[in-house]
Amino acid sequence: MPAKAPPGLTLLEGREALREWSAEIPDGTSLGFVPTMGSLHEGHLSLARQAASTCSKAVVSIFVNPLQFGDPEDFSRYPRDPLADCALLADAAVDAVYLPAAADMEASIRRRPAEGPAAERWEAEFRPGHCEGMLTVVGEFFRQVGATHAFFGEKDAQQLFLVREMAAASFPGLEVVSCPTVREPDGLALSSRNARLTADDRKLALALPESLAVLAGGWEGGERGIAVLEEILAASLKREGVQVDYASLVDDPTFHPAGPSLSGPWRACVAARVGGVRLIDNLLLGGP
Ligand code: AMP
Repeated sequence: MPAKAPPGLTLLEGREALREWSAEIPDGTSLGFVPTMGSLHEGHLSLARQAASTCSKAVVSIFVNPLQFGDPEDFSRYPRDPLADCALLADAAVDAVYLPAAADMEASIRRRPAEGPAAERWEAEFRPGHCEGMLTVVGEFFRQVGATHAFFGEKDAQQLFLVREMAAASFPGLEVVSCPTVREPDGLALSSRNARLTADDRKLALALPESLAVLAGGWEGGERGIAVLEEILAASLKREGVQVDYASLVDDPTFHPAGPSLSGPWRACVAARVGGVRLIDNLLLGGP
């Protein structure tokens, strides 16, 4: 834990501190909230900056959520650096960082995704319990923080879809704002997990953005057959050393598998393991 907050940043260590800080905020003030698991990079910071620039107050949480990791090893190896994170958040002009203790996040309500493919397929299929664990903790944060706006990265598109569904059903006053994926100059989406890639695996990881770029090329060339587009995506993603979990086109508004009865736009979603590191990425076809 950071011993002292950097100038301009209020450290909220535990739920009581959050309560006291929130009580000082006048009614009617817009409050932006960004949940993170820390080990912050430019992707997280783009969300934090957007929260700080669009809301009167902004708070970022750092909590490595054990409920959303199926594999205890993955949880224990998840990178943690709260000191560096707080310095970055102070630079991003957020007002406060919420660092709950594990006991603060023991949720009284277990949240499940609404029925449908987003509850069962893709991340839900390959990471059993992940979506429930993520929604349970994000829902608990929403309850505790009482924000007017919550900021999520488009990089985790299925998460964003599920959070929007939960917010619409259970947090009617909350606006969920999506923020574009921040990438390295070579196209790899920033992720806290990238730090665990060896130099060789870092090159192999480019299979994810490259396969999406190949797909975009097919789309821009006029290809509209869903099966053909999925084949283009899968063929480009498949390489020695890249273990593909899925490479699918989904209907962006509903997160159902893309199909003739739906009108799109389609989002291509990929997930693969490279040297034991699981990476995801996605692209909206025909998007900006
Ligand atoms: P995490 O700490 O991985 O749980 O991520 C916290 C938030 O940051 C989530 O809303 C993510 O979608 C978002 N995020 C993670 N990586 C990126 C990225 N490369 N670009 C934009 N947002 C991101």
